[in-house]
Amino acid sequence: MHTPDANAAAMIDVAIVGAGPCGLAVAIAAQRAGLRAVVFDRGAIVNGLLSYPTYMTFFSTAERIAIGGVPFIVATEKPSRRDALAYYRGVATHFGLDVRQYETIERLARRDDGAWIVYSTTQGGEARESFARSVVVATGYFGRPNRLGVPGEDLPHVRHGYIDGHIAWDHDVVIVGGANSAVDAALDMYRAGARVTMVHFGEALDANVKPWVRPEIEARIREGQISAIFGARVTAIESDGITVERAGETTRVLASQVYTMIGYLPETGLLQQAGVPIDPLTGIPEHDADTMATPVQGIYLAGVIASGLQANRIFIENGRDHGDQIVAHLQSLSQGT
Ligand SMILES: Cc1cc2nc3c(=O)[nH]c(=O)nc-3n(C[C@H](O)[C@H](O)[C@H](O)COP(=O)(O)OP(=O)(O)OC[C@H]3O[C@@H](n4cnc5c(N)ncnc54)[C@H](O)[C@@H]3O)c2cc1C
Repeated sequence: MHTPDANAAAMIDVAIVGAGPCGLAVAIAAQRAGLRAVVFDRGAIVNGLLSYPTYMTFFSTAERIAIGGVPFIVATEKPSRRDALAYYRGVATHFGLDVRQYETIERLARRDDGAWIVYSTTQGGEARESFARSVVVATGYFGRPNRLGVPGEDLPHVRHGYIDGHIAWDHDVVIVGGANSAVDAALDMYRAGARVTMVHFGEALDANVKPWVRPEIEARIREGQISAIFGARVTAIESDGITVERAGETTRVLASQVYTMIGYLPETGLLQQAGVPIDPLTGIPEHDADTMATPVQGIYLAGVIASGLQANRIFIENGRDHGDQIVAHLQSLSQGT
């Protein structure tokens, strides 16, 4: 594993920004091709998964989110968050991947010889520079939550994600949103003894709500165990509740905790700064879907970052192959084909 300053000045063949499942899969593919790969993450390995609800279960089977051909075996039908954390740690150990955790990539700059300077800051505040022939941006989706853009959104009882229903016991809770994360949070908090109201701008729950979850949430709403206000927009958040507008009428809903579960925006900052155009409508960074190469020489995309504003287009199941595509392209370049 990583020894902080060893090889610091040596050229990296493939620097990967983001140690999510898709970033790790790139590192494995690169290493298998004999390339020197280094993965950087601003947090721990698979940092994104770490912030998912503690007791979540993946919708995919273990086999479909396995990477590098390493079997992912669980005793249950679907892997849990904890299974996945252990699995990806194990995979990184198995391949001896060079994963530099708690090192944030701040900026990319092109050297005259075409190599990239990767500027980073460690957790302790030390500024570092690494040098790479190519850079794969696999920064994912879950660092930039969508915002409602209403007064009160930054109050301390407003959260842009949720970890565990336990913290909502005996509280009046509002969950803004109507897609999978909002539904999972609503059910978990209801089971933990919270009084839950869902507020959603759509006229019904999102069409993509997982089919095995839908019957329960619909039954709870029907029976009044979970309240739901559809076709409604939050216009303000106050210390003890929220204001909602629906069909021209304003209502107040009591809440001591507010969860905005309204999705995320892709983390495209590094790409923009490196000169990769981002489509203003779709949010998709320009790239070739076969090779994952962007128009900026030496910069590639991997994982959900390539899906633009629609995060559900790419997930682990189909983003885990990006590494093979990228490495095939790098090899074709080095062979001049
Ligand atoms: C509740 C939930 C359940 C899900 N279930 C499934 C499922 O069953 N099956 C499935 O296939 N998908 C599922 N997904 C989606 C899946 O988790 C994501 O698609 C997947 O994590 C994408 O992987 P990634 O490697 O592209 O990005 P991420 O996992 O988001 O990783 C990106 C990494 O980049 C790091 N990073 C960002 N910026 C920087 C920077 N500047 N410097 C250094 N590091 C940086 C982050 O810390 C993070 O670790 C689920 C998502 C959620 C929220």
